[in-house]
Amino acid sequence: MNALRKVNAGPGLELQTVPQPPAPGAGEVLLKVQSTGVCGTDLHIDEWTPSYHFVSAALPVTVGHEFSGEVAAQGAGVTGLAPGQLVAVRPSVVCGRCEACLAGDPDACVTRRGIGVMRDGGFAPWVVVPARNCVPIPPGVDAEVAALTEPLTVSHEAVRTGNVQPGDRVLVLGPGNIGQGIAIFARAAGARQVVVAGHGDAARLDVLRRMGFNDLIDFAGTGMEAGLAPYLQEGKFDVVIEATGADAVIAPALRALKTHGVLVITGIHAAPVPIDLTAMVRQHQQIRGSYRAPERAWPEVADFMRGHQETLRHMITHRVPLSRAAEGFALARDKVATKVMVQPQLEAA
Ligand SMILES: [Zn+2]
Ligand SMILES: [Zn+2]
Repeated sequence: MNALRKVNAGPGLELQTVPQPPAPGAGEVLLKVQSTGVCGTDLHIDEWTPSYHFVSAALPVTVGHEFSGEVAAQGAGVTGLAPGQLVAVRPSVVCGRCEACLAGDPDACVTRRGIGVMRDGGFAPWVVVPARNCVPIPPGVDAEVAALTEPLTVSHEAVRTGNVQPGDRVLVLGPGNIGQGIAIFARAAGARQVVVAGHGDAARLDVLRRMGFNDLIDFAGTGMEAGLAPYLQEGKFDVVIEATGADAVIAPALRALKTHGVLVITGIHAAPVPIDLTAMVRQHQQIRGSYRAPERAWPEVADFMRGHQETLRHMITHRVPLSRAAEGFALARDKVATKVMVQPQLEAA
């Protein structure tokens, strides 16, 4: 089969011919991969960003961690998954042996290995994964939308962390895949207004418009303060959720936040960011970080997909077969695409 792999500790990925995975062992399942999203992490592994050099220990490895697949074979002891069942895959494989795992708190596992990062992932037509990482997708939800589960859990966790309440006004900074999901879950939580802002992001803001959002700002040309001014005339925001990784947005984000408001940070910032703590203290504001969602978020997000499939589908702006994955990566690197889906079965025949 073909597989998109990181082979050497340096820039680049290679589409290689590799053997099909062996039969699943105890507690494992063989999945027929249906759709795999291209994520920022994949771009970093491709470009060989220093913060991803830890992947060296796993080479060669098939990348791709945002995928859905059908259960094709099950190893010994697997229960609760039927053959042909469509599943999304939690990429984080916990060790089962550390103190946290033994205490029944796998979310706190300290020696996790990511599927598609430290062990073979979904940019291939077949993959073997632990059965406990498979989250059944409800009937009626199709495979490409199911492949959005992982990034949607990140967005879901950000909104939960912000404690968005009915009637809140929420500002989302960053209209990419994660920001779009945040907007959806903030609306679902009952926010009265969800404003989403970007910078030179016309294509991604258009996707949000198709998803039914109308309070959209592009700061390019105006700058952030001027872009926000009309919205701040109605008052400051109850919750601001940042999904940009851009340090320049943090100070204006705090200025746009109410007294007692919450600023949630989800972006990965390359360097420390100075913050005016005195202003924050005087306004009783909170800054909270949000990252990987707990395991319990996954079935909730899968269930949410049932009623929102067509809205979510707008996030998928490009589809490519595995043989054209490089093209898909280029689209993802460009701000034109929101989510590029690679379709490995188109190459499997
Ligand atoms: Zn990802
Ligand atoms: Zn563990």
